[in-house]
Amino acid sequence: NGVVYSEVRRPCRAMLLVNPHSGKGQALSLFTSHVQRMLNEAGVSYTLVVTERQNHAREMVREADLSQWDALVIMSGDGLLFEVVNGLMEREDWEEAILTPLGILPGGSGNALAASIHHYSGAQPVSSEELLVSCGFLLCKGLVSHMDLASVHLSSGPTRLFSFLSVAWGFVADVDIESEKYRHVGAARFTLGTLVRLASLRVYRGRLAYLPADEAEPRGESPQNQRPFSTFCPSDLCRPSDSVGQNTFHNSCNSNNAVRMKTSEPVPPNATQKGLPDSLLVPLDQPVPSDWVVVPEEDFVLMLAVYQSHLAEDLYAVPDSTLNDSIIHLMYVRAGISRTALLRLFLAMGKGTHLENNCPHLVYARVKALRLEPFSPKGVITVDGEVVEYGPIQAQVHRGLARLIAR
Ligand code: ADP
Ligand code: MG
Repeated sequence: NGVVYSEVRRPCRAMLLVNPHSGKGQALSLFTSHVQRMLNEAGVSYTLVVTERQNHAREMVREADLSQWDALVIMSGDGLLFEVVNGLMEREDWEEAILTPLGILPGGSGNALAASIHHYSGAQPVSSEELLVSCGFLLCKGLVSHMDLASVHLSSGPTRLFSFLSVAWGFVADVDIESEKYRHVGAARFTLGTLVRLASLRVYRGRLAYLPADEAEPRGESPQNQRPFSTFCPSDLCRPSDSVGQNTFHNSCNSNNAVRMKTSEPVPPNATQKGLPDSLLVPLDQPVPSDWVVVPEEDFVLMLAVYQSHLAEDLYAVPDSTLNDSIIHLMYVRAGISRTALLRLFLAMGKGTHLENNCPHLVYARVKALRLEPFSPKGVITVDGEVVEYGPIQAQVHRGLARLIAR
């Protein structure tokens, strides 16, 4: 779709950030055994920085003289990249800083972005060391693409987070966090965590609202963004009789079944916020704008907003996602799903076929922004797999804000 990309500067001077505790704790030795020589041969020189604690990378990147670096490369899971992205966005010169090419080498147990860029490169699925070698090769090629980021607002404080991967609540978030204790099994920790969680399946209460992508963009602007989620609407939400054209199907689904809030038009949000404006969001204590859809359900098993193809090496969450499609792929599973059906969904997600299963409890929508207000008193919300404060949360996508060495 006309993706614009450039090449990283040669010879390339990279800051290589390694989290020694990520994954099975072998990131450093994996780098030495599988990637080091490749980089040397490709003329990528690097300065190794081994992180000493959580947020060390975030602080380093916030203070760094970025003119010294052609790329910031992360050898860890998604958590360390999350630190780097936020460190860059916290800088006074964030607008320029966030254009620093980023590189990702899978050294963690959650390597969703690495799995995604491998997938975008058109290669067959691989895992573990093979994925590392593939990402090392992409790094050597040095083609830089733009990558969407979402800005994420929590109810506390004026600061935002920036996210490249996901916002999750309910089942998926619980598994992500509970499975930390199975870190020693590597990427398989999610499968193990899923099985354990299935045994104590619970319902999460809350209100979910979103701005459909089709509404946010003038029709015809981007054919890719126009595809409605009709085929994935549960049959009891979207009756086939409503379906005339695909868009009609989509619209009738919204108007018949979802509550549209009647409020004034968006007031510019974050008047106090410095930097990039979030033009689609209003403050969390105000009702969502009138063109948002408020989903009718309040009982969920999970809510998952993803902007890349993979959620883990073996979780192919969004088959048609690209690095900068400017779409938040929103999925939620309504309460009432059986354990067997949920397990089937997760198994299908291994192959990326879960959206074709016509599971009546799974809803999929392509959105630009969303808001979640959990009612259940306790729970976990994750952003890019990292736990954030539990409570109301909203996010909007920003097209191609960051740059990633991929392709
Ligand atoms: P994994 O995929 O194995 O979870 P991550 O890169 O996501 O690997 O890192 C896990 C967590 O460790 C993240 O929250 C990250 O911020 C944090 N972290 C980074 N460096 C260190 C360190 N040196 N010691 C402890 N925690 C760290
Ligand atoms: Mg992680």
